[in-house]
Amino acid sequence: MAQTKFLLSEDQIPTTWYNAVADLPKPLDPMLHPGTREPITPADLEPLFPAELIAQEFSTDREIDIPGAVIDVYRQWRPSPLVRARRLEKALDTPARIYFKNEGVSPAGSHKPNTAIPQAYYNKQAGVERLTTETGAGQWGSSLSLACQYFGLICEVYMVKVSYQQKPYRRGLMETFGASVTASPSELTEAGRAALAADPNSPGSLGLAISEAAEAAATSGGTAKYALGSVLNLVLMHQSIIGKEALLQMELAEDYPDIVIGAAGGGSNFGGLALPFLGEQLRGGRSVRAIAVEPSSCPTLTEGTYEYDFGDTAGLTPLTKMHTLGHTFVPPSIHAGGLRYHGMSPIISQLKELDYLEARAVPQTACFEAGVTFARNEGIVPAPESTHAVRAAIDEALACKESGESKSILFSLSGHGHFDMQAYIDYFAGKLKD
Ligand SMILES: *Cc1c(COP(=O)(O)O)cnc(C)c1O
Repeated sequence: MAQTKFLLSEDQIPTTWYNAVADLPKPLDPMLHPGTREPITPADLEPLFPAELIAQEFSTDREIDIPGAVIDVYRQWRPSPLVRARRLEKALDTPARIYFKNEGVSPAGSHKPNTAIPQAYYNKQAGVERLTTETGAGQWGSSLSLACQYFGLICEVYMVKVSYQQKPYRRGLMETFGASVTASPSELTEAGRAALAADPNSPGSLGLAISEAAEAAATSGGTAKYALGSVLNLVLMHQSIIGKEALLQMELAEDYPDIVIGAAGGGSNFGGLALPFLGEQLRGGRSVRAIAVEPSSCPTLTEGTYEYDFGDTAGLTPLTKMHTLGHTFVPPSIHAGGLRYHGMSPIISQLKELDYLEARAVPQTACFEAGVTFARNEGIVPAPESTHAVRAAIDEALACKESGESKSILFSLSGHGHFDMQAYIDYFAGKLKD
């Protein structure tokens, strides 16, 4: 029998996260204080994050224990399935073996709850009452809304204004999970008021919404903290649950990926899947080709410079050494809202700079074409972000067909596209531009 799904039982959920910082070829450059430009200390981050998460951000330990209360929530949808895309392979007539790790099975429909849940948990443990955050497409906001609901925290989401207007269903999901949602730029913060004064019709951006959410936490007198859904070392570490499960599942499949692929916005789902495999390689084990895929309209890794930059528009966050398009860059309104960020995880940036991974930029119509092919064969509509990974996986499988090689390709299906059907409708109507 040709097996399709490779499933783990709940007691096989990994009990530790993997921290790739322990295996990097070079130590990461320190984050710098936005005022003094000196390396930041844990104390500098205290207005924004609880102590335990700050400790994780600075940690160089390879494995970090996952609290039992977090695993209990993970159990609602984890371990997520690893699926062999047999029908897609057949449709492509490729000798390649294509696998995908389906993170679309989570309550929010993406990988983002993997970090939202522990972030809410550690804040609750620290006595925090409210979490503030930003969201672009709404994936992160809905994940944090649910996490706050589970742990009894109030959740305040600053949602990029164009998405607020264009994605009422994501807003509805956040409100259903109990969050309050504000369109950004808003009148509630200095950063928002300044942006509105400069342009009353500002559509907003992720960088600006981060400024608002971080300001709201930093000026709360300690009752509120801030949560970030990607980029940070601690987020990539929480997301390593994806790759740790996939390592076990590839073993079940009696296979090992030659190529690991993920869409990259801030780098967390790509890193979550790829870093546990790259870690094997960095420690002298099997090697793997890792490919991060980004939109041509926001080509952070392929065209950005590797330098210190702010994480937000207003310049309130620490300076981070990363690939960046500049903190004032406002990417075009493509449908893959979750990939519209000017910066990139410092871990992913360093590995790209040192050639341990590849980056590829693809235009959105080619991505939707791949997404539709995937949907018609595998029965899952990928999120617009995830179609970037699908595109690269299909291209690699077609290259195998060309060369006659039978490679093993593993990609991250970071989420489903059920809230993004307007994007598919626009694609079918020929309205999408590259
Ligand atoms: C947010 C998101 C991404 C991109 O974010 P990363 O930090 O790069 O993981 C990719 N896919 C989906 C479905 C998302 O929601």
